Amino acid sequence: MLALAAAPLGFRCHVFSPEKDSCAFDVVHAGTCAAYEDEAALSRFAGSVDVITYEFENVPAKTAAFLARRKPVLPDPKVLETTQDRLIEKNFISGLKIATASYAPVHSAMQLADAVKTVGLPAVLKTRQLGYDGKGQAKIAKSGDSIAAWRSLHNAPCILEGFIDFEREVSVVAARGRDGKVECFEVTENEHRDHILKISRVPAKVTPLLAREARQIATRIAKAFDYIGVLAVEMFVVRKGQRRTLLVNEIAPRVHNSGHWTIDGATVSQFEQHIRAVAGWPLAKPLRLGRRIEMVNLIGDEVNDAARWLTVAGTSVHEYGKGEPRPRRKMGHVTRIWPR
Ligand code: AMP
Repeated sequence: MLALAAAPLGFRCHVFSPEKDSCAFDVVHAGTCAAYEDEAALSRFAGSVDVITYEFENVPAKTAAFLARRKPVLPDPKVLETTQDRLIEKNFISGLKIATASYAPVHSAMQLADAVKTVGLPAVLKTRQLGYDGKGQAKIAKSGDSIAAWRSLHNAPCILEGFIDFEREVSVVAARGRDGKVECFEVTENEHRDHILKISRVPAKVTPLLAREARQIATRIAKAFDYIGVLAVEMFVVRKGQRRTLLVNEIAPRVHNSGHWTIDGATVSQFEQHIRAVAGWPLAKPLRLGRRIEMVNLIGDEVNDAARWLTVAGTSVHEYGKGEPRPRRKMGHVTRIWPR
C-alpha cells in the first residue's frame, strides 16, 4: 500500500522482505527477498535507494542499525527499542504524563503475585515482546488463575495490566514531517473481535473535546520521539460518571490497520502521508470524504466472500493477494462510504 501510494508521486520503490510471497513484490519497481541477517543483500539494497522506511515494527534492531549506517532510515529505528517492548513503551507514555492502564513488570512467578497486589484483578498478563492480535496475552480474572496464565505465556518476561472496562476503543493515526509539523487523521473507532481489529468507523462516537484530546496525545507522542512518518496510537475511552477519559493502550510505529479507511475515505491516505513525510515533502491536510465511513477487515476465509461487495454502491474492495486464507489472518478489507 505504501508502494502504491508512492508511485503516483513519482517515486519508485524497492522492497526488502524475507518472505518470498510478500504481496509488496507484486507492485514494486524492484524487490529483494533475503533474510534480515543477510548483510550482503542489505548492503546492496541500501546502495540502490535514497531513503529507507519500514511498515513492520519487529524489524530486528541490528538490521535497522546496519541500514541506518548506510542510508537514512525513517522513522529513526531507536523508536523500535521503545515500541518493541510493552514495559519500555508504557514507561515512555507515563513519562509524558499520559494515562495508561495501571501496570507492573513480571519476570517471575513471585513477582506476579506482587504485581497482582499492585494492579488488582481482573488483569491482563502480556508478554513484553512480540505480542499482537491478542497473541502473548492471558486474562487473569481471579488470583487462582495467575500461575496458569504465567505458564501459558511460557514464563516469558511480561507486564501485568489492569483490565480496563472501556466504553469504546479509538485510535489516532498521525503523520509528522521532517519539518516537525504534525497532521492527524480523524479519531477512528475500532471494534475488535477475538482480539483482532474487525471494523473501524469514522466519525468515532466521541465528543469534539475528547477527539481533540486524543489528537493532542498522538501529537505529543510523535514529538517526543522526534518521529518522521506515520504512527498510530490506540486508546481506550473510559467512562467515569458523566465524564470520559482516555488511556493509551499501544503505539504502532507505522501505518496502521485502523487507518486503512483513508485510502478511499480521505483526500490523502495514511500511506501517502507516510511517503511524503519520509521524502521530506510537506504533509497534506486530510479531509474525510463522506458522512460516515466503515472499514471491515476480511479475516481468514471471509476473503472468499469479497465478490459480493464489488457491486455495492460506495464500496471499495481490497484483496492483499496473500494466497491461501489462514484462520485469523487479515486477507483484505472493504471500505464503505455513506455520501454526505
Ligand atoms: P493489544 O495487543 O495490547 O493491542 O490488545 C489487543 C486488544 O485486547 C485490545 O485492542 C483490547 O480490545 C484488548 N485489551 C488489551 N489490553 C487490555 C486491557 N488492559 N484491558 C482490557 N482490554 C484490553
